[in-house]
Amino acid sequence: MRIVHLRQRLRDLGAKPCHEDRLLRGWSQVCSYDRAHSPAETFFPLALRNELPAVEAELNGLARLRSENPVDGDVARLLVELADGQMVESVLLPRGGLCVSTQVGCAVGCVFCMSGRDGLLRQLGSAEIVAQVVLARKRRAVSKVVFMGMGEPAHNLDNVLEAIELLGTQGNIGHKNLVFSTVGDLRVFERLMEGLTHKPSPGEPTLSPTLTLRSPLPNPLPLAGEGANAKGNLQFLREREQTREAIFNSCGRGGVREKQSSIPAVKPALALSLHTTDAALRARLLPDAPRIPIEELVERAEVYARATGYPVQYQWTLIEGVNDSDAEVERIAQLLSGKYAVMNFIPFNEVDGLSYRRPSSERTAYMAHTLNQQGIYTRIRDSAGQEVEGACGQLRARAVKAR
Ligand code: SF4
Repeated sequence: MRIVHLRQRLRDLGAKPCHEDRLLRGWSQVCSYDRAHSPAETFFPLALRNELPAVEAELNGLARLRSENPVDGDVARLLVELADGQMVESVLLPRGGLCVSTQVGCAVGCVFCMSGRDGLLRQLGSAEIVAQVVLARKRRAVSKVVFMGMGEPAHNLDNVLEAIELLGTQGNIGHKNLVFSTVGDLRVFERLMEGLTHKPSPGEPTLSPTLTLRSPLPNPLPLAGEGANAKGNLQFLREREQTREAIFNSCGRGGVREKQSSIPAVKPALALSLHTTDAALRARLLPDAPRIPIEELVERAEVYARATGYPVQYQWTLIEGVNDSDAEVERIAQLLSGKYAVMNFIPFNEVDGLSYRRPSSERTAYMAHTLNQQGIYTRIRDSAGQEVEGACGQLRARAVKAR
């Protein structure tokens, strides 16, 4: 199901924008439709009230919990069954994070990932993507959503962006806490940049405060080699994000911005799965990713990062003897020098059926330390729950095999 179709159905039942808004808030935030002095039973039009139980039953049936697998602390992998019996995975992450799937299967076929083993089976509708958030919110609070589960979001762009739009407005999730992840696709950069480069024509309403604020910013980071270090960069990023968040909050969340412009109001943060700086190796590791030069990927991501004010999160699944060499470290330092970027090293999560191995923790720490010393802010995502990319698809694969 797509949200756009859900909205049309509500309109056919007599819903006006305020009714749509309250229903979608109630659903996506798992909260009551009632408001003080405005109970739902008198607020919604009669036709919608009569149909509400059927609408709710359909929404509840979009994503059901098939099993929950605790990993550590507040991290758990959820096997989610969709209305047609297909299954995807979501991951409850620390500090209110949630990783959602955007497709059943995946067409990119990364050699270290189980999700792409059978290719793409089907797209998820935007409502099915939001339904994973709803399912998670029935278990605990969710304040951040990363689109890094099964599937390549670029291959299901309309549905993913529609889900992001809802989560960043009625869903009450801060825009920088919505993280669009991709292996790099020109369509993604073009769609995400829409609005950010928009110039109003004569007579057209002026841009919303949000869009005005998201114009390119000058010199966001001190350059490596100019006295910068990773700690300084991190402080800079934090201060800048706090300032932007304060401004966004003072403008009101989503609903206000949505009314001010027809341009998509929600601009997510961007994660780019790089995995190597070597084009030939990348073509082997990500066989069906678009063949875009790595330098171009970084430049395009950089433009978006500067326009939104959110650093690019580079994802790098670390595999022993494959992409953990000193030469890679040197090239990362050159590639990301002065960029508005965070490097996330994700040590490969060893799984049955794949012969790759994770590097030692000493090697991983050395690589991260070397880059941090050179001003490239680098983190090791070493929690089992955060290794969502390489590890995703295992639960589903086991469940399918058991059928
Ligand atoms: Fe697809 Fe991501 Fe798995 Fe690659 S790592 S096959 S893009 S789900």
